[in-house]
Amino acid sequence: MANTKSKLLTEWDTLHNNGPFPLKLLYQTKLEGEREMPKKLDRYNDVALEIQRLIRESHHAGEGFRAYGSAWSMNTIASHKDRMHFNGFMNLSMPIRAADCHPNNTYDPTNLFLFECGNTIKEVSETLAENGKSLKTTGASSGQTLAGCVSTGVHGSALDSGSVQDYVVGLNLIIGPNPNDIVYLEPKSKPALSDAFIQTLNSRVIRFQAKPMHKERAIGLIIIKYLSIHTLMSRIVW
Ligand SMILES: Cc1cc2nc3c(=O)[nH]c(=O)nc-3n(C[C@H](O)[C@H](O)[C@H](O)COP(=O)(O)OP(=O)(O)OC[C@H]3O[C@@H](n4cnc5c(N)ncnc54)[C@H](O)[C@@H]3O)c2cc1C
Repeated sequence: MANTKSKLLTEWDTLHNNGPFPLKLLYQTKLEGEREMPKKLDRYNDVALEIQRLIRESHHAGEGFRAYGSAWSMNTIASHKDRMHFNGFMNLSMPIRAADCHPNNTYDPTNLFLFECGNTIKEVSETLAENGKSLKTTGASSGQTLAGCVSTGVHGSALDSGSVQDYVVGLNLIIGPNPNDIVYLEPKSKPALSDAFIQTLNSRVIRFQAKPMHKERAIGLIIIKYLSIHTLMSRIVW
């Protein structure tokens, strides 16, 4: 079972100390060990249950709960006065197999990966490089988490390419404490994952009508989770 450490604090700060900001409780969750739980998907689902437990606990205490990654965003809005959760240890990743794609999938399956929210850009790049791929753009630094980048729309560096959020083809989100509160979102017109695979994430699938993108550009990759942003990403498919 994933394990959470809780620290009672009075304040929290960003990496560059542009706070401090008030805080009551800091959570840090680590995944179950590989020996105890060898399958990545099991660890992925296991930690989702733990995050739901923390959301429930915060809700019962009448307090707010906010995820953060590397704390690089220099703004008060990236903090919460009650409870915050550090995601950096939640960094599973896996390639998506062709067999796990939706029958109407139009992406090259070799461009699809699932990344959990706490993966840093460096970790994402390493995983992609091992598979002969890369992000289409790169910023000046690589310590940000995927979820932090997607949330704030950063890490682009080319005129004709978007930033990290534009690589996302699907999002796996924890939206509350109940069994029905893990949802997988993707556009109806560009489905990536099969329903059978989404079921293995214990997720409820929501396919929505998306507006056509600029230049009919297909986004490449990601499933993100959460609050636990698990991200399915790859190089952008054009
Ligand atoms: C030294 C430095 C170098 C930088 N270099 C670049 C660069 O080269 N290019 C560029 O574009 N930008 C750059 N930035 C900006 C940086 O990319 C953004 O601040 C980015 O948001 C940081 O990611 P993070 O993981 O630290 O996010 P955080 O600051 O931890 O969080 C940002 C926001 O995302 C939310 N969030 C984080 N994780 C989750 C989650 N799992 N679920 C839900 N919400 C979540 C948080 O609540 C918060 O609102 C740089 C910043 C610094 C300080």
